[in-house]
Amino acid sequence: MSAVPGTFSRRTYYMRASEIRELLKLTEGRDIISFAGGLPDPRTFPKEDLAKIAKEVIEKYGDNALQYSPTPGVTPFRETLAEFLNSHGVSVTKDDQIIVTTGSQEALYLVSLTLIDDGDVVFVEAPTYLAAINAFRVYRPRLVSIPIDEEGMRTDILEEKAKKLAADGFKLKMIYTVPTCQNPSGVTMSRDRRKHLLEIAEKYNMIVIEDDPYSFFSFEPLNVEHLKTMDKNSRVVYLGTLSKILSPGLRIGYAAGPKWIVSYFELAKQMVDLHSSTLTQYIAMEAIKRGLVDSTVEKAKKIYKEKRDAMLDAMEKYFPEGSHWTRPAGGLFVFAYAPPGIDTKSLLPEALLRGVAYVPGASFFVEGGGENTMRLNFSYPTIEQIYEGIKRLGSLIAEKAGKR
Ligand SMILES: *Cc1c(COP(=O)(O)O)cnc(C)c1O
Repeated sequence: MSAVPGTFSRRTYYMRASEIRELLKLTEGRDIISFAGGLPDPRTFPKEDLAKIAKEVIEKYGDNALQYSPTPGVTPFRETLAEFLNSHGVSVTKDDQIIVTTGSQEALYLVSLTLIDDGDVVFVEAPTYLAAINAFRVYRPRLVSIPIDEEGMRTDILEEKAKKLAADGFKLKMIYTVPTCQNPSGVTMSRDRRKHLLEIAEKYNMIVIEDDPYSFFSFEPLNVEHLKTMDKNSRVVYLGTLSKILSPGLRIGYAAGPKWIVSYFELAKQMVDLHSSTLTQYIAMEAIKRGLVDSTVEKAKKIYKEKRDAMLDAMEKYFPEGSHWTRPAGGLFVFAYAPPGIDTKSLLPEALLRGVAYVPGASFFVEGGGENTMRLNFSYPTIEQIYEGIKRLGSLIAEKAGKR
C-alpha cells in the first residue's frame, strides 16, 4: 500500500538508504568475495576477555550497570575516556566535555540536529564518508566538497570556496573531515594542511568536526597531530569510536569538544535516546582500564597491515595499466581509480556475476565525479580471498579497458 501524500514529513524525502547496506544485502549468503563492507576482522574481537568482563560487570556493578544513567554517559567511563584520549595524543581539557554516543553515527546525527540549518554550508572531502553525508542531508545543508590529494583535503581550494561563498552571503557553518587514514580514500592530511584548515575555520568562524575512527591503529607512523589537539580557539569537536578498536556491536562512540558545543549535543541526545547503553559503557570502561583496547589495537595493526599489504601486492599484479590506487597508512580501505572511461557502477553487476563485490566510488562524491573509482575493503576478507577477488576484478577491468 502506498502512503497517502503528506503522510510522511518532508524530511523523509532527504533520507537515503545507504548504498553500501543495499549492496551488502545483495551479497549476503552468496558465494561472493566482498570488498564492499567495512567490517573489522572478527579475529580482533577479544571474545574471552569480554565475556569475563561482561560477567563481572553484571555481578559486581549490576545495580548501576543495568540501570538508567546520565545522558552524557556514565561518569567514571567519561573520566576513563578522557584519560585514554589524552594518553593517545587527543587533548581533552577541563574546558571540554565528553559525551558518550551510540557509535560515532549518533554523534554525526547530533551534529546535524544541533548545528545545521537549511542552506548552511558544510564543507566535506571529495570523496567523503557516506554515513556522515546521509546524516547531514536530512537537515538540508549546502554540501560543498573539497578535493583531496595524497596530503588530504586541498585547503587552498577550501580557502577559495569559503571566500566566494561568504562573499555570496552564504552561512559557512562547518568543516567535516576524516583527517587520518580517511574513509574511503585511506589518505592522511599533512601537518601544514591541518594548520591551514584551522586558520580558515577561524577566519570564517566555522566549527570543525574531526571524525577519527582510525588513527589508533595506523600501520606506519603518521607524524601528525589531531586537529582537536592543535585547536586553540575552541572550535574543534573530536569524534571517536570503539567500533574499529574493540567491537562495533557494543555501539560505543564519543564526542569530545568545547563545552559550548557539546552541551547542545547533550540536550539533543536526551530527546533522541536518553542515554547510550549503560551496560556496554561499563564493559567498555573495564576493557580500557584493563588494557584490552590497547592489546586489541596491537592485534588489529598486525592483521590489517598483512591484509593491506596483500591487497596492494595483488593490485600491483592484477590491475591493468592506467589504474592507480591509494596506499593507506591505516584504516580499512584502499581507494582505486580504474582507467578513465570505466564506470564502476555499471561494472558492478558483472563483478557480482564473477563473485566479487566492491563499492562504486561515485556515491562518496557529493557534487559528482568519481565514476571510475571504487572502495575496496581489506579488513574483512581473508588473504586468499583478497588475492582471488582482486584477480577477478583486475581481469574484468582489464577486459573493459581493452588492455592486457
Ligand atoms: C567506521 C567509521 C565510523 C564509526 O562508526 P560507528 O557508528 O562508531 O560504528 C565513523 N566514521 C568513519 C569515517 C568510519 O569509517
